Parts: sequence; C-alpha cells; structure tokens
Amino acid sequence: MTRANDPKLRSWVEVPHDSDFPIQNLPFGVFRTPGLRPRLCTAIGRYVADLQVLAEHGFFDDLGVPRYVFSRPFLNDFIALGKTATRAVRNRLSELLDDNLEDWDASELAGYFLHLRDEVQMLMPLKVGDYTDFYSSREHATNVGAMFRGKENALMPNWLHLPVGYHGRASSIVVSGTPVRRPKGQMQVQEGAPPVFGPSGQLDFELEMAFVIGRDSQLGASISTADAEDYIFGLVLFNDWSARDIQKWEYVPLGPFLGKNFASTISPWVVTLDALEPFRVEGPAQDPQPLPYLQCDGPRSFDIQLEVELQPAGGKGKPVCHSNFRYLYWNMAQQLAHHTVNGCNIRIGDLMASGTISGPGPDSFGSLLELTWRGANPIPMPDGSERKFLLDGDTVIMRARCEKDGVRIGFGEARGKVLPPF
Ligand code: MN
Repeated sequence: MTRANDPKLRSWVEVPHDSDFPIQNLPFGVFRTPGLRPRLCTAIGRYVADLQVLAEHGFFDDLGVPRYVFSRPFLNDFIALGKTATRAVRNRLSELLDDNLEDWDASELAGYFLHLRDEVQMLMPLKVGDYTDFYSSREHATNVGAMFRGKENALMPNWLHLPVGYHGRASSIVVSGTPVRRPKGQMQVQEGAPPVFGPSGQLDFELEMAFVIGRDSQLGASISTADAEDYIFGLVLFNDWSARDIQKWEYVPLGPFLGKNFASTISPWVVTLDALEPFRVEGPAQDPQPLPYLQCDGPRSFDIQLEVELQPAGGKGKPVCHSNFRYLYWNMAQQLAHHTVNGCNIRIGDLMASGTISGPGPDSFGSLLELTWRGANPIPMPDGSERKFLLDGDTVIMRARCEKDGVRIGFGEARGKVLPPF
C-alpha cells in the first residue's frame, strides 16, 4: 500500500463529500485551456492540478523524473517511465496536496496550478496503439448467447476455458464528451431476406472498463498471470458503442467488425492500479478449473460500482443499469496471460476492454440489448417516451466508483451524445 492510499489523508483543497477525486485517488489525465497547450494533470475535488507547472517548480526533480514528460499531449511517455517513477509522482502529489505536510506545502502556488475542472477541456489521455475487446462477463455472454442461439447453446464450448476476445480498432476511440454519429451499414431486417443499407436502427451502449498497458512486452514472450499486473498502469471507463443490427448480419464467421468499430468512448481519467488496491476482491469461482497458464493466486478483481444513465434530448436522465466490475468471470491477469500466451506482444498505451459487464439481476445488465431483451421490454423514460435502442439526441453517461472506509475513488464520466448520421 503506498502513502497516497492512506484513508486518513486530507487535502488543503476542498473536496466535496460526493467527489470522485479525493486525495487518495490522484488519477492521471491530459487537459488544455484556451491559453494553455495540452499537458498532464491530476484531479483533486473540483479542480485539475497542472503537472507541467508543478514540474517547472522542480517538485519532481529529486524523483529522477524528467520534466518534459508532463508537457506532452498524451500520458504515454510518463507511463513509459515505469511504475517506480509514476508511483513516486503520485506519492509526491499526495504530499503536495496534503493538509498536514508543511515541508511540501504547495498551497501558496494554488493559483498557478489549479484550474476548475468545469473550465478546462479534458483531452484523449492516451495514444492508443492497439485495442482488444474481451467478452469476460458470464452473465453478458449467457444473455447474448440465449438471444442469438437459444438457451441450451448460450455459452459456446470454449467460453469457460479461455477469455474470448477480438481485436478492435484504436482510431475511433474518443474521450468523454465527444459526440457519436449513428453508423450506417448493411443489415438483414428479416430472416432470409436480402440485406438493406441504411442507418443502424439498433444503436446500443456496452458498459465496460478497460485497462491501460503500462509496459512493453517482447514479441515471442508471454506474460504470466503472476506478472500481469506489472504491465497494467490503470483503468478507464469504456463505452463500446455497438450497432446490433449491423453486428448480427456481419459477425459470422469472423466476429465483430463495422457494428463495433465506429466509436468507443473512454473517461478522461486513468485511475491507477495503485489507487484501486484497497478495493481488491476475489472474482467469481471458476469451474472448470482453467488450464495452468490461466490459473492465478489471490484476489484479482476489484469492487468497482458501475452505473449507466440514459438522458433523452432536452429531457431528464434515468439510471438504467447498476453493475459491478467484480462480476467479471475472467480477471485482467488472465486476460493478459491469455493475450500473450502465443507470443503476441503488447505496447504502452494499448487498451484492453473487459467486455460488457452484466450482473445477475435484470437491472444490472450492461447493454440495452439485454436490458430490453432485444427490444421486447422497452424502458419507460421520465419524458413519457420509451427506449428499445438509442435514439438520436440521447446521451449515455457511464460512471464508476469504489467506496470503503469513508474514501470514494471515482472515474468521472464516460459521456457521449448520439448524433444523426452524416
Ligand atoms: Mn464490447
């Protein structure tokens, strides 16, 4: 447990009780203002703290961390310094913002490095090289399988033996707040009929989290479950927008393609694995026992509460889903061990998404496909309308947070508004 996680710490920056960003969180992101070029920041209460300014004042010099990494437009160079360095920076930030540490008091400089979050623009925090999407929620895979193949064949024979995944597209990953265009494509509206072309009529969200690769691996080498977490820098919220009608027509036999790769939205804050450490829990029991390369010791999941809010254009929003990261059957260490077991290498900034995180109850399903059971049970909205799938003008807002010992660590939002197609 690092210094920064101490639940007793308090900051001289006011932190509202319902804030995602107490002094115990200190996630990393990238921001700009009309007057400031993109640079690295952390979040504290209602503020972002400008790390470039803190670096220019020499606050990180004794840590052996070069100043230039803080004035980059992405976190990648910072992450590349390695966990010893990034952990030292997070601990130093914890000292600088601590109410009780006079030696490291940075409060006199507050006017130079703190900006209200509402007044800055948060940017895409990572240069994502490769993006992989897993399919690791047993509940989600069972629900979707039951809908598409019937209850008896819901889980494919491989599912309980390996973390199923596919390679997604990094170019269309966007930061929270970026609008999402309804995709157009080919779909088969009626069984046996010829396909038609047009805007998707079944646009959906997928509630996911993704982990950020923090260390390169070597081509040809594998990462064990025991070492996997050394390669994980932190986590973001992830909305894997999906066009169900396009997906259904195209996915046989090679899997998802245009029904998935038009957009994915991430939260602007990368919450470090260090910050999540107090919330570590066991995942679900695994039966049958996985092959040896997928076995791991100790608790490998995290208790992260998840929520999806759906907001119609001009209307009041409504929470449509409450789930939890801990429901995932396959954990991150297993996903990474599987991903690299054939010698596939990973690189800093790669994103590995969990797959839709559905829980056991019907209000914990992580997609509209499941929540409405393919449109059979529409969701009533506060404005009197109902939703089977997303309409133009709808905004989807995902949130995630952990709570324990009076400390709440949150991820902020992954928010996106649906725009009509071009
Ligand atoms: Mn997905």
